[in-house]
Amino acid sequence: MTYDDQNIFAKILRGEIPCKKVHEDIHTLAFEDINPHTPVHTLVIPKGKYVSMTDFAAKASDAELAAFNRAILKVVEIKGLQNSGYRLITNNGLNGGQEVPHLHVHVLGGRPLGPMLTRM
Ligand code: 5GP
Repeated sequence: MTYDDQNIFAKILRGEIPCKKVHEDIHTLAFEDINPHTPVHTLVIPKGKYVSMTDFAAKASDAELAAFNRAILKVVEIKGLQNSGYRLITNNGLNGGQEVPHLHVHVLGGRPLGPMLTRM
């Protein structure tokens, strides 16, 4: 899929739309989800133009890959989730339910989250 420069996270990265920043480094931005599902619901995104994890894992530099993982850990530390636990979710593509076509990891925590998926 071609990267869409008009997606909402691209606008956040350009400063055209505000966000509640949690962490930032040269490769990564973390900010609060606008519609939190849990007491902690933070999104971590690479600054590069990557549609999905498929795209990122294939094309990102080693520095970007390392920074992204470390930024997730940084958010876990900032939010104090190390001992209580947390969940990471990355929705990819149509069946994954991805709504915003810029790679993002949801960091969820702050209460017991129950089973991974709703039973069908
Ligand atoms: P997806 O379904 O693509 O995995 O998740 C997209 C997430 O982006 C949703 O949890 C949604 O609440 C969040 N989101 C959508 N628009 C905005 C926005 O303008 N600002 C912020 N901070 N989050 C947003």
